[in-house]
Amino acid sequence: MELYNSIIEKVNNELGSVEPKRYIYNEANAWEDVGANQLIMLKESAYELGGDNKPAVHLSMVTSGNYVDGDEIIVIGKDLIELNGSSSFARIAFVKVNELEGEGDEDTEKLFRAIQDIDFVKYHVYPKGYMIRSSSDSFREQVRVSKDAVAKGISFERVGAAYIKQYKKNPAIEAVKLIFVTADDADFVELKKDAKKAQDITKALSKILEGMATDCHTCTLKPICDEVEGMKELHFGKNKSEFQG
Ligand code: SF4
Repeated sequence: MELYNSIIEKVNNELGSVEPKRYIYNEANAWEDVGANQLIMLKESAYELGGDNKPAVHLSMVTSGNYVDGDEIIVIGKDLIELNGSSSFARIAFVKVNELEGEGDEDTEKLFRAIQDIDFVKYHVYPKGYMIRSSSDSFREQVRVSKDAVAKGISFERVGAAYIKQYKKNPAIEAVKLIFVTADDADFVELKKDAKKAQDITKALSKILEGMATDCHTCTLKPICDEVEGMKELHFGKNKSEFQG
């Protein structure tokens, strides 16, 4: 499952110059999850990740390659208790999946369902005192952090552990590398483009599953399929005689 690998490689070069801090995932460290949307009023807020019109990007990509060694949380820039005002923000998930070959209709469907399940996680994590507002159209993920959570020592390591705990409920997921970025020299403009491309790939997979036309010359998805290695092979599987691209 290598469709997103070129984006993963690009993302790795856009994270700025700050030395990353790495934390091995430990489920026991997961920050409390309140299980539902919460409202943090402005007067209770310490600051916002992505507040004051600063960049705030989320992207997640699936891979079966060597980009994820194990479950870990990486922090690039100031951590949550070190921030004292609005900050630029990115949350990036590299999700390693198992047994997804992506060849033939059945496997393409399995692959797509797994990607959808993985996407589902981002709307189902509710760390206490960490109010997430996401927009899938603009790839924006802005977060209001409460004063109370900061006083209690909230950290990306612990919020990240809450996310990974949720991801690990999916048996197709082998490991997750979760990267939080607050360093201003990361390339947020390019990261947003990467998020768009990852979404385009997922949309193309969805269209393939709908059983659309098999002539690449007249297909509206040709630009993304031309660009991303493996898309056409995924659509036509091993039967290259069908292939008209
Ligand atoms: S492989 Fe060809 S027909 Fe299939 S989605 Fe891509 S461009 Fe369209």
